[in-house]
Amino acid sequence: MLKKNDLIQLKITSATAEGSGVGRTEDGLAVFVPMSAIGDELTVRILKVKKTYAFGKLEEIITPSPARIEPDCPNFSKCGGCVWRHITYAEECRIKERKVRDAVERIGGIQTEIKPIIACDRTDRYRNKAQLPVGKDRDGNVQIGFYSFHSHRIVDCGDCALQPEQFAEVIKITREFAQKYDVPIYDETTGKGRLRHLYIRYAEISDELMVCYVVNGNGLKHEDILLKNLREALPNLKTVIFNSNREKTNVILGSKNRVAYGEGTIEDELCGKRFRISPFSFWQVNRAQAEKLYSKAREYANLSGSENLLDLYCGTGTIGLTMADGCASLIGVEIIPDAVRDAELNAERNGVKNARFICADAPAAAEQLRQEGVSPDVVILDPPRKGCGEELVETVAKMQPERVVYVSCDPATLARDLKYFAERGYVTREVTPCDMFSRTAHVESVALLTRNP
Ligand code: SAH
Repeated sequence: MLKKNDLIQLKITSATAEGSGVGRTEDGLAVFVPMSAIGDELTVRILKVKKTYAFGKLEEIITPSPARIEPDCPNFSKCGGCVWRHITYAEECRIKERKVRDAVERIGGIQTEIKPIIACDRTDRYRNKAQLPVGKDRDGNVQIGFYSFHSHRIVDCGDCALQPEQFAEVIKITREFAQKYDVPIYDETTGKGRLRHLYIRYAEISDELMVCYVVNGNGLKHEDILLKNLREALPNLKTVIFNSNREKTNVILGSKNRVAYGEGTIEDELCGKRFRISPFSFWQVNRAQAEKLYSKAREYANLSGSENLLDLYCGTGTIGLTMADGCASLIGVEIIPDAVRDAELNAERNGVKNARFICADAPAAAEQLRQEGVSPDVVILDPPRKGCGEELVETVAKMQPERVVYVSCDPATLARDLKYFAERGYVTREVTPCDMFSRTAHVESVALLTRNP
């Protein structure tokens, strides 16, 4: 019987989508080993034994997997971000494709074509957004970084390989300012202190930077000096915002923003259209991949010019607006009021006249539209991780669109919803995984469903 602290030899034969390699003992027990790679022969120390599986820690690599590479980030395995910096990108893509296929087949019970993953041209520096918790270590040094895996312990990161280099400059200026002026740093356990998070956004095409400080209060003492430092170091700084969050909560942003510099928004481009982005609005974190994802969604929507399009969970209107020239009408639904306002302005600035946007909960709005007799030809779905759910699937199916294009950031909830669709006469034609978040465990996909005549 395997027990804690045993040292065993293990061959890694598969990998979980969350970033662990898996091998089996002679008795068939699955052992999960973080930071291992398929093909590794390892010495593993057993940390925990359950009935049908165990967790282990890599002690020594006896024979490395051919997919292994040297991790190139000092924070890898500590910071809770990347899980795949120790294997080749090709291997990561294989694992992600398999994650989507497994979910669709096992959770959804659906046999369909899973296309090869749309891979990234650039696997580093692709993120245009960072939300970094601010804390203090035992010696009172200001820390800005990421929570480590499954915890609220901050791993200090001067620079993150997934983010633009400029973010490191913002972090540095903020850290130096906080240290010099002894800014009270928010303490999660007591709810005391001021500075909570540093939130940065970058619009790549227009080269515009947004810096937002989340504070337990209204602003920061000496904030004019902070602004001056930022402006001097970063010529492309477009706006600085103070977001007020006085709640004792894990939710990062509070409900009120005060613009301290600039207009409070930045502007970026996707598929040739311009988009305004506010701090509260959702914006795709990987712009280059978002363009590829949207073109796939457009291909699936297969518009001829006469269709009525319904874009549910539309954010700032991006997916629908990039298709608006190919359809007769567009309705977008989104729950965040600022995002809806952005969507309306985005329609205007791109000369789109056939679109309207509704600020509401997607399932409720869809039902309302259905009762009003709205019958879209194509429905786009792009929900958050929890997916659409059966109620919304039911409503969409009742609207009888010819095609449903489902964009998803969680294969498990996608698969569950595809099953709900299947039960209502919608066939999943194909699914294309898209790597929006390379080096991390997350994978996006887009599915095409058509109505069974
Ligand atoms: N399609 C957009 C946004 C996708 S992210 C894009 O590609 O940019 C998912 C969006 O759903 C977010 O903007 C989020 O605010 C919104 N959302 C979350 N819950 C919702 C709900 N219950 N009803 C409507 N929108 C919701």
